[in-house]
Amino acid sequence: MSIFRTHILIPVDENTVQSGVFEIKRQLEKQLLLRNLEGEIKVLETGTVGVVGKGVILVVFPDRVYYTQVKVGDLPRIVEEHLIKGRVVKDLEHFTLDLQSGMKDFHQLGPTRRQDRIVLDRSWKMDPENIEEVLAAGGYRGLEKILSAPLAPEAVIEEVKKSGLRGRGGAGFPTGMKWEFTRKAAGDEKYVICNADEGEPGTFKDRLILEGDPHKLIEAMEIAGYAIGSRKGYVYIRGEYDLSIRRMQKAIDQAREYNLLGGNILETPFSFDLEIKKGAGAYICGEETALIESLEGKRGNPRLKPPYPVTHGLWQKPTLVNNVETLANIPEILFHGSAWFRKFGTDKCPGTKVFTILGHVEYPGLIEVPMGTPLREIIFSYGGGMKEGKRFKAALLGGAAGVFLPEKLLDVPMDLESLKENKAVLGSGAILVMNEDTSILDMLFSILKFFAHESCGQCSPCRIGTRQLVDLAYKIREGQGAEGDLNIMVNLSQTLFSTSLCPLGQSLIMPVRSAVENFRDELLTPIKPS
Ligand code: SF4
Repeated sequence: MSIFRTHILIPVDENTVQSGVFEIKRQLEKQLLLRNLEGEIKVLETGTVGVVGKGVILVVFPDRVYYTQVKVGDLPRIVEEHLIKGRVVKDLEHFTLDLQSGMKDFHQLGPTRRQDRIVLDRSWKMDPENIEEVLAAGGYRGLEKILSAPLAPEAVIEEVKKSGLRGRGGAGFPTGMKWEFTRKAAGDEKYVICNADEGEPGTFKDRLILEGDPHKLIEAMEIAGYAIGSRKGYVYIRGEYDLSIRRMQKAIDQAREYNLLGGNILETPFSFDLEIKKGAGAYICGEETALIESLEGKRGNPRLKPPYPVTHGLWQKPTLVNNVETLANIPEILFHGSAWFRKFGTDKCPGTKVFTILGHVEYPGLIEVPMGTPLREIIFSYGGGMKEGKRFKAALLGGAAGVFLPEKLLDVPMDLESLKENKAVLGSGAILVMNEDTSILDMLFSILKFFAHESCGQCSPCRIGTRQLVDLAYKIREGQGAEGDLNIMVNLSQTLFSTSLCPLGQSLIMPVRSAVENFRDELLTPIKPS
């Protein structure tokens, strides 16, 4: 086995693919070959390092130097100066990790802050397409632990319940309870579905989890299958996520080959298999019952609840639907135990949360931090603060159906309970940061248009109400509204909340009310006499 003096990690995700990562990798390998360095320096594809908008990234280990915006023309200098002479090429865009925190800690660009990672712990340290590397990095050890003990399915559920893990898809329902309901539901045929139909505008955390560590999702779904008594799972992935789909399929094939998936897994009586289904791009299919309808080959219209999928899901059989981030916590919980998991986050909201930071910050990207980390810290430390030194105005938290948080709420801890106290939601974990130049009215208008477009039209309050909200916002924008229109908008979205069939119509109250309550004067500007 070769011992390499240096490793160069090249994160391959949809962002870096668009920036030409494969060509840069090819050229780098060519240059290493020309200088006979291929036996000393190993180039390794990895999942995301959490940084987006910075083009192709090369990470030189053990030096911990991250070169960003790398172009083919930069490679000769990186090879000559850094890899041969050992000097960082200072005039190329780069940053260096803080050595204080040890190899396992990842630090965001700019302010080199430590992150506590559970979900993304290994996605940037290994080649997700190489199962040997995944196994060496701890892949499937949670599954192995429960199957070799063996731990009873009820004990697995109990451990998940004790961990306090709550769904990371938005609603925050206790995961262990959901598993228990599905296990106890009548019927021999049960299903596990991974909801990877990430359609929330500006959110791409599930994509990067899938791209960076697909085996973790497989392992988690198998553990869920074992716990609820299922032999079959589906990964419902957004159709546009090409790399995620390709890597997930490859991971499924490899896991089957290694007897980690399929019949008699690890030579135990447990059998479980997986299939990928592609979503067709409808936002509403992220709602669990619409997703199930779509999986059944029908139009993705949400179902009336109850009954819930835990008793009447796919083909009316008990079905467990968990989202990508929720599942990605499971293997580590089972391996390390619930007490370990509870060391992160808050008492009522244990664990970590993956946030997508976007908008007017210096360093947009993904971070994983303990639940309860204040918004200010996320934006000004992990996100590097406001771009171009502009003033913070608001953050849209939780995706399009989220809440406009004003400056006075910057210190609110990012956990479900604290946010609820402030009439906010964690939602998808997207944080869209807006500077002083952003028009909240324009933002609200585009959110309303998005919802009117994505409404499936099945129920009248949502079908008609979303359109009326767009019209009201348009009228105000054009200076033809009246002050009372803002109250009409709040009341209308309140009616949608009470009468709509699914979360799409129900959640519009969040952006509308928060915009009106926190930015009333600004919203009225176009209709105030000058
Ligand atoms: Fe369809 Fe909207 Fe009704 Fe949901 S609330 S079922 S999206 S019309």
